[in-house]
Amino acid sequence: MFPDLLFRAVDLSVIIPIYNEEANIPTLYARLRSVLDPTQLRCEYIFINDGSRDRSLELIQDLAARESDVRYIDFSRNFGHQIAVTAGLDLSLGEAVAIIDADLQDPPELIPQLYQKLQQGFEVVYAKRRSRQGESAAKKFTAKLFYRLLASITNISIPVDTGDFRIVSRKVVEALKQMPEQNKFIRGQISWIGYRQTYIEYDRAERAGGETGYTYRKMIRLALDGITGFSDVPLKVATVSGFVVSGLAFLVMLYTLYARFVTGDYQPGWASLMVSILFLGGVQLIAIGLIGEYLARLSANVRRRPLYIISDTNIPINESVTH
Ligand code: UDP
Ligand code: MG
Repeated sequence: MFPDLLFRAVDLSVIIPIYNEEANIPTLYARLRSVLDPTQLRCEYIFINDGSRDRSLELIQDLAARESDVRYIDFSRNFGHQIAVTAGLDLSLGEAVAIIDADLQDPPELIPQLYQKLQQGFEVVYAKRRSRQGESAAKKFTAKLFYRLLASITNISIPVDTGDFRIVSRKVVEALKQMPEQNKFIRGQISWIGYRQTYIEYDRAERAGGETGYTYRKMIRLALDGITGFSDVPLKVATVSGFVVSGLAFLVMLYTLYARFVTGDYQPGWASLMVSILFLGGVQLIAIGLIGEYLARLSANVRRRPLYIISDTNIPINESVTH
């Protein structure tokens, strides 16, 4: 067909997940081009439309029609940010691959710096947030707490205060493609892969337009994917607390028998009964819930469904690239 499409040499792929970003696409694209065109790098821009309900798809299809280095992948529905990025990685060809949010919270102007660092012999250069603007105190607090918690219970070092804004080498992309998990937590997976990694710091801006696509529900799912994917500590906590509580319950039982039969000093113990039942019930539910979280992910991996369904794309798909 177009041999240059099939055997493209690409220095840098830019992966941009899109969920209802019509307000940001034009500015984002203009800023990307004005930053990357002067570098003389052969770039490709991969937009992944993750089931947007606004005009995002139309906008990126227009760009793709005008410029030969703009690719788009249109999902059949909303599969989520991490899966959109995964699809971009799967279909990217670049020697280096940058991942960036579409809402301009990650400044495109940082990409050349990230790229330069990568050329100095690193396989991963991530952008670490020095500060973040325009986000609710609750979001900042939960994010901070989550990254600290994750760092303390995993045995790989997932950098704190870092999203997916980063640049990685082809080596890392190939390693990611070999990781079969269904519940993607890309920043954790990249840490797990290893190699020489480094970072640069930046101040995170406000979202330029539109609204966040990350509802609390999606944030909680991402947090649980991160934790269950990289740590068994919660399961162990469940077991340990189970033992501690059972031990306490056993002591209380001894005391109750003693009071009942030896000293005869006992009251109809409604309060203590209620307290212990509720407490034990709570602990049991927590433990079961934790097991359920792991089990659900286990069964997702056993099912081995394709991770996403592409409805349309202008990227020539070679069967071996998808999975
Ligand atoms: N996004 C996506 N699918 C989703 C939610 C978000 O592809 O289901 C994209 C979104 O368009 C943006 C990036 O993921 O490019 C980060 O999302 P957002 O800015 O809404 O997250 P926040 O910055 O609020 O954490
Ligand atoms: Mg954002």
